[in-house]
Amino acid sequence: MIDLRSDTLTRPTEAMRAAMAAAEVGDDVYGEDPTVNALEERVAALFGKEAAVFTPTGSLANVLAVASVVEPGQEVLCEASAHIARAELGAHGAVTGVTMRTWRHPSGAPDHEQIADMLAPDMGPYFVATAAISVENTHNFAGGTVTDIEDLRRLRSFADEAGVAVHVDGARLWNAHVATSTPLSAYGEVADVLAVCLSKGLGAPVGSLMVGTAEAVATARVRRKRLGGGMRQVGILAAAGLHALDHHVERLAEDHAHARLLAEALGVDPATCPTNIVVAQRPDAPAFVARAAEAGVRISAVGPRTVRAVTHLDVSRAQAEKAAGVLASL
Ligand SMILES: *Cc1c(COP(=O)(O)O)cnc(C)c1O
Repeated sequence: MIDLRSDTLTRPTEAMRAAMAAAEVGDDVYGEDPTVNALEERVAALFGKEAAVFTPTGSLANVLAVASVVEPGQEVLCEASAHIARAELGAHGAVTGVTMRTWRHPSGAPDHEQIADMLAPDMGPYFVATAAISVENTHNFAGGTVTDIEDLRRLRSFADEAGVAVHVDGARLWNAHVATSTPLSAYGEVADVLAVCLSKGLGAPVGSLMVGTAEAVATARVRRKRLGGGMRQVGILAAAGLHALDHHVERLAEDHAHARLLAEALGVDPATCPTNIVVAQRPDAPAFVARAAEAGVRISAVGPRTVRAVTHLDVSRAQAEKAAGVLASL
């Protein structure tokens, strides 16, 4: 089986396991795990931010990040197929009392006109107050699409004029960075707060971070503990993240090249697949997925007519070529 369902499926490499086994640890709830501290400091510095906090999942990093800029009863604006809207099981409403309104864009990007029409930063006791705009980069369900840094800069100045915050769901911001050579610090400049994952293309078994101001991160530590996300000798996992940052960022370019092979096989313009995710339309997505599985290739149906294939660390060039052949034959 060649498994292209998700880049979360990667298993830690031998070298990553060795780094994990050798990690120096302490009690992170006491702030005494040196490896977690090193990871948090390193990731904050990469984005030019004051601080970062390690979380078990990207969903928790997003919940903490959005809650740091949106009070209960206020709203965040996001794209209709954003992970925060579709795939976090309503956490922002159920847990932190954040409401959402969505714009639609075929590639998941911020649509400045729609956003301008939706914005209601402070309309007194009549309308929900917009407190933040969220951008997902790369965009998962739109097919690993990248929002250009110039677009993000325009959004930033627009948000500044309106007095609202910018959140970046950067679960795969590393892929955007590698695909466009945009420095990570540039993403830090356009966002008040970010969430990034180590457990996707970077290949760590677990781990994400929320990145922002020292004050926002201090509050996030309280919320993380409240929600049951305070972890103890978790340097074992942070070591996997540090190893991934050292060894698995630049190689994402290989995943992107493999995804272009799959795009061609699925009849999708490779120019619309800049990173490691290929989304294609099929009249009956579950049936197509079942036939692919019979032929030895696992992909996902992410909608009744939408299939998704994702390349990652555990898919070699030869496997990508083989999977492309199978998908083309279907
Ligand atoms: C995977 C993902 C997350 C976080 O997911 P978890 O499974 O909670 O780690 C957040 N945003 C996007 C866009 C994702 O693809």
